[in-house]
Amino acid sequence: MRTGMDYHIHTYYQRCGNETMTVPNVIRKLEECGLTSVAITDHLNHLGQLEAFKYIKRDIEDTKTDIDVFFGVELNFQACDGEFAYSQEIHDEYGFEVVIGGIHSTYTDSQDMAEVLDIQHRHFMKTMENPLLDALVHPFWFGRGEVDARSPEWWETLIETIPDDYIQTWAETSAKNRCAIELNVAAIFYYDAMSPKFRDNYVDFVERLQKAGAIFSVGSDAHDISQLGRTDYAEGLLDALRVPEAQIFRPAHR
Ligand SMILES: [Zn+2]
Ligand SMILES: [Zn+2]
Repeated sequence: MRTGMDYHIHTYYQRCGNETMTVPNVIRKLEECGLTSVAITDHLNHLGQLEAFKYIKRDIEDTKTDIDVFFGVELNFQACDGEFAYSQEIHDEYGFEVVIGGIHSTYTDSQDMAEVLDIQHRHFMKTMENPLLDALVHPFWFGRGEVDARSPEWWETLIETIPDDYIQTWAETSAKNRCAIELNVAAIFYYDAMSPKFRDNYVDFVERLQKAGAIFSVGSDAHDISQLGRTDYAEGLLDALRVPEAQIFRPAHR
């Protein structure tokens, strides 16, 4: 059942989304696409980016719409095994309602899959064990430079051969802490740096997490207005895998 969700959207305010991504533009486009419940979640990579969130929040409040719009943020580790630029104080002062985050690097040049997986594992766990976080963003997304440094087959094998104990641990931690694992459209399902086979294998990875009880969120990760509305792909995947409603993330207003 499609309901029109998108809990990962960037804006122009942090200069990450391009100039098409003002809050009023984004909301008008989401209305055209028939979405009903969304979160604007721009990057907070360091505290210098905090100020711009005041303008995002102001524009969400000033834009009239029937869509349920949540004020959110996307966090990134500031270093390998480092911290997010975030705290309970920031959370309360700014009033963020949807907090998503995760790892954005392999943090290694290694071709050893066990080593690469262990680094991802540590950061997935640190994300999902943080009580302020609602979702782990785009597991196994990497920038083009990192993707191109290994062969397509290497990535296909990596995602296909994740050991069961990792899958069990990630799914159980997601369920226990109510921290969703994100189905990300732009960074995974429409990401042409990875091969079609990788993306097929990724669906099997999601199915394994689903059977182990993980909770899922849906995000476009749009940085351009044309990338909004593509979350129907991720919602279709939830349908195809028969993910029960109890395993689908739904935010609440503060
Ligand atoms: Zn990200
Ligand atoms: Zn993002």
